[in-house]
Amino acid sequence: MNREPVDEAESTRFRITEIRVKLTDDPRNKLKAYCSVTIDHAFVVRDLKIIDGSKGPFVAMPSRKLADHCPRCHHKNHLRAGYCNQCGGRLDPDRAPRDERGRSQLHADLAHPINSATRIELHKAVVQAYAVEIEAAQRAGAHYQPKNFDDLDALSDMVDDEYIEELERRQEERERRRRTTGAARSSETGGGGTLSSGAASD
Ligand SMILES: [Zn+2]
Repeated sequence: MNREPVDEAESTRFRITEIRVKLTDDPRNKLKAYCSVTIDHAFVVRDLKIIDGSKGPFVAMPSRKLADHCPRCHHKNHLRAGYCNQCGGRLDPDRAPRDERGRSQLHADLAHPINSATRIELHKAVVQAYAVEIEAAQRAGAHYQPKNFDDLDALSDMVDDEYIEELERRQEERERRRRTTGAARSSETGGGGTLSSGAASD
């Protein structure tokens, strides 16, 4: 893998030793592929997603939808839910926490790089593996054998537009922060936000 020189303070010693990419088969799906990344032959992160964004493919880290508790019965509901799944009580579908620009945050990453150098390196490697897999699929044509992911196949295979929009917004925020703070020194919050009590539920 090519490595670009990175800020010494942020350079990382971790090595990506394997990336497995599984293409989705519906061309209308903005979710183009899943992948798993192995670090140092020792640690696997699964359910990274390659999403066809407005500026080309980008990598989404494994994430969960944020949730909160119903004020009446304490059941956990997704933040966009208009009614409680348990007691049916009315909920404000617009109650998600908002960033400084007033836009709601509905998802949080479960695993993510904590500095720009690692993030850039990881994303580059994943997008490259994705390109290689597409090429392999095209070459093999009807004989293409998708990577075996077993249980990964059971994971959700659609991403909603709101999530994609949220990811692209985060990316813009990161770029804006990098421009304003200079250098790639700012640490990242990834999915950001605090996972408040009982947050994250599907
Ligand atoms: Zn309830």
